[in-house]
Amino acid sequence: MSAAYNPYATAQKQFDDVADMIQLEPAVREFLRQPMREYHFTIPVRMDNGEVRVFKGFRVQHNDARGPAKGGIRFHPHETIDTVRALAMWMTWKCSVVDIPLGGAKGGIVCDPHHLSEREQERLCRGWVRQMAKNLGPFLDVPAPDVMSNAQHMLWIMDEYETISGGKYPGVITGKPVGMGGSLGRTEATGFGVIYTLREALRELGITPSTTTAAIQGFGNVGQYAAKMYQQLGGTITAVSCWDHNDQKAYTFYNKNGVDAEALAGITSVYGDIDKEKAQDLGYEILPGEAWLEQAVDILIPAALENQITGANAGNISKQVKVIAEGANGPTTPEADQVLKEREIFVIPDFLANAGGVTCSYFEQVQSNMNYYWEKEEILEKLDTKMTNAFLAVSSLAREKNLYMRDAAYVIAINRVAEAVKKRGWV
Ligand code: NAD
Repeated sequence: MSAAYNPYATAQKQFDDVADMIQLEPAVREFLRQPMREYHFTIPVRMDNGEVRVFKGFRVQHNDARGPAKGGIRFHPHETIDTVRALAMWMTWKCSVVDIPLGGAKGGIVCDPHHLSEREQERLCRGWVRQMAKNLGPFLDVPAPDVMSNAQHMLWIMDEYETISGGKYPGVITGKPVGMGGSLGRTEATGFGVIYTLREALRELGITPSTTTAAIQGFGNVGQYAAKMYQQLGGTITAVSCWDHNDQKAYTFYNKNGVDAEALAGITSVYGDIDKEKAQDLGYEILPGEAWLEQAVDILIPAALENQITGANAGNISKQVKVIAEGANGPTTPEADQVLKEREIFVIPDFLANAGGVTCSYFEQVQSNMNYYWEKEEILEKLDTKMTNAFLAVSSLAREKNLYMRDAAYVIAINRVAEAVKKRGWV
């Protein structure tokens, strides 16, 4: 990530542009362009060697007018409060655009779990909860996994919360393991949801999925399941990019005959790093990290991190690209958006495309609060319906008002939240 890039500035610029467009009242605008609450804290952790290390933790609750705050906890060595603020704000718009009764939040711990033992990770998760317990709860703020955090982390967090609270509250967190309060379908939900919206976009553009090719950045939870569902629609992936934690740089794995998503997942670590040597044995060519963006394909799926399609590299996107389905949060900067708009590339914006995760988290929360769990088929069907309806609402507004898809999604999302804060009499 470039030092100058600030995701919070991006999130606020996107918000301001749409607030101008819909002429949002000044007080509502002031209220919504920043978080309602922020928690910054330190987490002392006794390491396996007996020493104590102090980690930095955050939780930002951007807005909870439409329901309990919801959003993941990201583990990243370069996590900053501004990243968390931006992600919390995007969560508010995401829950709103798919019309689920939740607000937006995000959390983070500045750490690299690659360099922590399992016990150290457990102590870190429990330490995060001890700082936050009073401000979390099934009807207050419900965290979830994000980059480099997983189902086991969620279970430790739930367990610590229940220990502190003296009761059983499986609805305090989502993304738990199946059988321990987790929902079937949650693992697949974000990636599958990206492709449900892509399927609808291709339908509107009159393109048959099985004739298309795609390149994906990121091969973690989102990238892997997006790849799987896209292949089920008959599409061909030619390139996948991911980060290499040993070399501290990204690579693109290219196969002109098409990537076998399942086989590639088989040689990928839990953190989404593909094994280079094994990939070469399977016939992949290894290209520089940015090569995924420059492929002559029909579809690009950024599914890694924010700030990946920028003013500096958007010009390198092939003329063949027709759709960008944003699996990651905030992958495209406002400067790059200008380039994509001019080129009339159909962008399915992040907080719409990747809302499958929070939608299924919402289903998990509902099931956990009832202590009654649904079948996977039922969940994926409900997920498809929610994603498809949200996509159709955004794309029809975009067509009707001749708006860029991101702006149309913002108009719907911001209007709903503005309505909620006004009806509650907050502003
Ligand atoms: P993950 O940790 O499982 O995977 C991240 C992937 O990105 C890994 O393959 C990693 O190697 C790759 N990556 C990281 N930096 C990269 C770089 N510079 N170049 C190329 N590849 C790089 O994370 P995830 O859960 O799949 O999340 C990916 C994105 O999707 C994030 O922006 C996250 O906030 C967003 N998201 C995730 C969910 C979810 O349910 N997991 C839901 C909504 C949005």
